[in-house]
Amino acid sequence: MIHRVLILGGTTEARQLAERLAGRVEFAVMLSLAGRTANPVDHPVPVRSGGFGGVEGLANYLKEQEIALLIDATHPYAARISANAAQAAGEAGVKILALRRPAWRRQPYDRWTLVADAEAAVAALGTHPRKVFLALGRQELVPFEAAPQHSYLIRSVDPVEPPLGVPNADYILARGPFAEDAEKALLVDRRIDAIVAKNSGGTATYGKIAAARTLGIEVILFRRPVLPPVETAETVDDAMAAIDHWLASERGV
Ligand code: NAP
Repeated sequence: MIHRVLILGGTTEARQLAERLAGRVEFAVMLSLAGRTANPVDHPVPVRSGGFGGVEGLANYLKEQEIALLIDATHPYAARISANAAQAAGEAGVKILALRRPAWRRQPYDRWTLVADAEAAVAALGTHPRKVFLALGRQELVPFEAAPQHSYLIRSVDPVEPPLGVPNADYILARGPFAEDAEKALLVDRRIDAIVAKNSGGTATYGKIAAARTLGIEVILFRRPVLPPVETAETVDDAMAAIDHWLASERGV
């Protein structure tokens, strides 16, 4: 029997999990992307793109496509889709598993300021002009227009259109992973004195956090959002183990 699996993606781990499941004959896997990125990386399984239309839309999709297992492998800050996934899985009677990276933990010499959101990050930067590295998504940048006294270095996967309405902003287009040495060179070269980022977890974007620690640079970090309490794996290996466990119980083994 083939089990139909829907992976909610947009992360490296979602792609890696899709790769692992693609090689298994017991599964037919579909990966879902929000459709935000103009040129998403290639995936080893069929991909659908765009929102489902809230909880109801996702619940209907799960039923229509006869999905047996929903895997929420979205980014830890994609709280809306994770909440929708938990609710829709409940409504459709579908097994759900979340794959979520654990948050980074503060280390000695880290200079972290924890904030709720971009508005709070703007307040934390203060009134004195600073050189700020914004490692945020395009959607979170607009509040920084309220603080035009700072110089900004903005790194994103897709171009920031329209550009930020501030007099001093430089843009870098890049997709991780980012190595610590290169991050350190960038921070020194641009004379950055504050970083604003999310506590994404994992290794791909940790380089800037480690580099900031060495250089004594303040990191203003968004607190993690509250996510629904569903069964959760922290790594792709753990997710595969949980999936095999579920498969065995489905087969009554
Ligand atoms: P969000 O605020 O939690 O979701 C907003 C809406 O986008 C959802 O209600 C849903 O629309 C749609 N959506 C989100 N993820 C989807 C997916 N994988 N497949 C289909 N529809 C999806 O999400 P977000 O923070 O904007 O993130 C969007 C995507 O970017 C996610 O796939 C996430 O994994 C990825 N991402 C996010 C971040 C971040 O920092 N937030 C960072 C890296 C990657 P409907 O209600 O219409 O279904």
